[in-house]
Amino acid sequence: MPELPEVQTVVDSLRRLLFQTKRPPAIKRVLHLRDDIVKPPAGCDLRRTLAGCRILDVTRRAKRIIFTLDDNRQFFIHLGMTGRLTVETADATVRPHTHFIGELSDRRQLRFVDPRRFGRITWLGACDRTDDGKIGPEPLTIRASELEDRLKKTKRAIKTALLDQKLIAGIGNIYADEAMFSAGIHPLKLANELSGDEVRRLTIAMKKVLRRAIKHKGSTLRDYVNAEGQRGGFQLLHRVYAREGEPCVVCKSPISRIVLGGRSTHFCANCQRERGAGVSTAKVKRGRGAT
Ligand SMILES: [Zn+2]
Repeated sequence: MPELPEVQTVVDSLRRLLFQTKRPPAIKRVLHLRDDIVKPPAGCDLRRTLAGCRILDVTRRAKRIIFTLDDNRQFFIHLGMTGRLTVETADATVRPHTHFIGELSDRRQLRFVDPRRFGRITWLGACDRTDDGKIGPEPLTIRASELEDRLKKTKRAIKTALLDQKLIAGIGNIYADEAMFSAGIHPLKLANELSGDEVRRLTIAMKKVLRRAIKHKGSTLRDYVNAEGQRGGFQLLHRVYAREGEPCVVCKSPISRIVLGGRSTHFCANCQRERGAGVSTAKVKRGRGAT
C-alpha cells in the first residue's frame, strides 16, 4: 500500500508534469468515470463539475493527493492499496481497471487505475475539509513533544500505534518497521511506556527514513508507480522490512518476523531489545499470511 513517501512522490511527479507552463492545465472533460469510486456517492456529478476546471495546485496531506481547482474547490484521490495516478498521452494504452480518465487541455490524460478498488476520489467542494479531524499530524513536521503526548494516551504496542492514521498520518507497515529499527525500539513496547529519549529517537528516525524514501521515489513492492509510470527504488534499501531470516545490517543477527494486529512486523531482536516491551512475543502469532 502506498505510504507517505510514495504519495509524496506521486504528488511531486504530478506537479512536474502538470505545471510545465505558466498557464495551469484544465480538465477539458471527463472521458471515463466509474461512479462507485466517487465519495460522497450522491454528492455531485463529477463529470459535469470537473469539465472546464483548471488545476491550480496538487498537494499532499497524509496519504491524500489534493487537487485545488481555479475556483478554490477541492477534491482528493486516495490510492488505496493498488492505485496508480498517471499523466499519459491520449494514445497510450488504457490499462485494465482504469476508473477515471480526465482529458487535459493539452490533450494528455490524467488516469486513475486501481485493480483492487480500495482507492477513492473524494469531492470536497468549496470548504476546506482536507483536515477533517480524521487524520493526525504529519510525521515530517511533528515535534517529539507532540508525538510523546499522543503516545502517552494509548496502551497499544508502539508498532500498532504508529499505524493509526488518527495518531500520526501517512505511516504504514514498511516505514513503521524501518523507523523502529532505526530508533532501536522493540515493536511490542507499549506506546505509553516509551521514555522521552526513545520518543525523541523515534521522531528523528521517522523523519530520516521518510526523507530518504522520498529521495529514492518510494518503495515499489508490487503496483506502485509515480505519475510518470516509474517505480520507486527504496525497497532495495529496506533494513528490516521483508528481510526475515536475513542478517541484520548492524549486528548480523537474523531479522525476525511476527504478526501483530494482522500485519507482518520485522525487527532485529538484538538491536531492538524486548526488555521493557509491553507485550511478550510469545503471545504474538508467528507465521505467514499477513501483509
Ligand atoms: Zn541487529
